[in-house]
Amino acid sequence: MHVLIVEDEKKMAELLKKGLEEENHSVSLAFDGRDALELAQALEYDAIVLDLMLPGIDGYEVARRLRKGGNKTPILVLTARDTVPDVVKGLDLGADDYMTKPFSFEEFLARLRSVSRRGSADRPTVLQVGDLILNPATHVVTRHGEEISLSRTEFRLLEFLMRRAGRVIPRNTIVHSVWDSNDDVEENTLDAFISLLRSKVDRDHKVKLIQTIRGTGYTIREGGKAS
Ligand code: CA
Repeated sequence: MHVLIVEDEKKMAELLKKGLEEENHSVSLAFDGRDALELAQALEYDAIVLDLMLPGIDGYEVARRLRKGGNKTPILVLTARDTVPDVVKGLDLGADDYMTKPFSFEEFLARLRSVSRRGSADRPTVLQVGDLILNPATHVVTRHGEEISLSRTEFRLLEFLMRRAGRVIPRNTIVHSVWDSNDDVEENTLDAFISLLRSKVDRDHKVKLIQTIRGTGYTIREGGKAS
């Protein structure tokens, strides 16, 4: 998953980021509401983890503006305030679930998986394109029933494309979403990973799922012409 964490306590934010990255997710951080809104509008996330008490634009306002602007990304609220009215207010503004601090990382992961599934698009538990199946929870990928072994980055890239199956994703969007901003991403890194993925996912199959859209980017879909 590609997750946006909005949290002004930097230690907490870094801790969650590290934990999620160890679980193969890619993470962006925003330390205040303004950055959160900018990132959420510029990039596409599978889930947003939102602290309520933020400097400037607070978490309630972030949730309200996102929903008002039509952004339906699932939101998991993190809050130190465990009083019922606060939580209800957060949910009323469009959050999908909430957790009160402190919490265990395991519970956090479980809730995050659950809100990302519950997202407005009714996200399935496994992603499927043709006979290619990716299970985000177990990290198992199969094509025609046969397991495919992928590196961390290959998995992230494939998951990112499969969550947006059928849509053409611009190169820049893919690079910014799959790789961390501090990673060294060279001009041809994406192409190199796409060709690795193709060799594992498509090479031995008649139907090629990963498609190049010249001058734009990539898409994964069934029944497109191979290029
Ligand atoms: Ca805070």
